[in-house]
Amino acid sequence: MPYVKRTIALPSMTPGTGRRLVVHTFGKSGARPKAYLQAAIHANELPGAMALHHLMPMLVEADRRGRIRGEIVLVPTVNPIGLSQLVGNNHLGRYDFLGRDNFNRNWHDLSGAVAERVGRQLGRNPADNVARIRKAALASLGAMRPTNELQTLRVEVMKLSIDADVALDLHCDNEAALHLFISRQDWPVLARGLAADIGAEATLYNDPYPEISTFSGVNSALWPRLAARYPQAGIPQACFSATVEYRSQHDVSHELGEADARNLYRFLVRRGIISGRAGKLPRLKAQATPIGGMDVGYAPKTGILVYRAATGSRVRKGESVCEVIDPSDVRGPRARTQVLARTDGILFSRKVNGRLAWPGMVLFRIAGAKLLAHRKGLSSLDD
Ligand SMILES: [Zn+2]
Repeated sequence: MPYVKRTIALPSMTPGTGRRLVVHTFGKSGARPKAYLQAAIHANELPGAMALHHLMPMLVEADRRGRIRGEIVLVPTVNPIGLSQLVGNNHLGRYDFLGRDNFNRNWHDLSGAVAERVGRQLGRNPADNVARIRKAALASLGAMRPTNELQTLRVEVMKLSIDADVALDLHCDNEAALHLFISRQDWPVLARGLAADIGAEATLYNDPYPEISTFSGVNSALWPRLAARYPQAGIPQACFSATVEYRSQHDVSHELGEADARNLYRFLVRRGIISGRAGKLPRLKAQATPIGGMDVGYAPKTGILVYRAATGSRVRKGESVCEVIDPSDVRGPRARTQVLARTDGILFSRKVNGRLAWPGMVLFRIAGAKLLAHRKGLSSLDD
């Protein structure tokens, strides 16, 4: 069946304006496995949209040849609200102007609503439970009555993703190596293949699943939350959802987009969503490490920010990753405050280079294997 392109209108927020989502569907509606891929929920993060730009013609061709066994739903730019945030020749796109929400927070945890609808019917048969839970989750979303544009976007997008077997949310960082955020329960069975196929240089897992309501977090955590609520019932991890961070914001090129698309395509073949041979799994670049082992460097004061360690490099505990320089201090090197790594690991993310730092600003992230006492109890991501 040829692919279908459709649009979902969002409610107009001001007279004379209106935005819509564009959704592409490949394969057979309702066929399994189902994959859902979206990019640019942080609307200024376009490397993932570039990967989908290159993936779509490949899927059109696969569809034409009848190779798509399941169903693939793609939303290349999932946040038209953020896409419109042009301010003084800058494109923003990370926070909603109206309510100041981070666009990748406050997605719906449906476990309570699903429990109310079908909790008593859940039994020992995993396949029956999966079908009941998916139906109830979709019904819960269908019963929601969002009013504004962003609320509607969240509900409509979750209607596309919540019954998927695989749901990938494509992001990027300011300056970063390709990395993944996953749930502990998905490593290694599901996530290892994705990490290897796409060439992730770091994979960080939430244990057991993300507490904060990111898009991939709510899609993934629905299942373990229900499994914890109904320990006697057979509730499998029916959705593998991950946040893929496609390097840096400026890493938008045909070379990278095409390579990333080929890797995603191979992953979809490996998962049985597209027929064909995936071939040998590429070598895994890095083992998964816990979010509790992720060191986050914060600026201790304001000043000029300059990095000493390169993105993607291995750093040692105690090593200087960057400096914050007081521009009013005449003492040269003594005007520089060093910000040190507090673990051994991969410096997978840096924030803007050569710019202003301010107190509390996130400067870098390091994926380390050891749990860190100073990270205990902190959320997995900082805005
Ligand atoms: Zn993002």
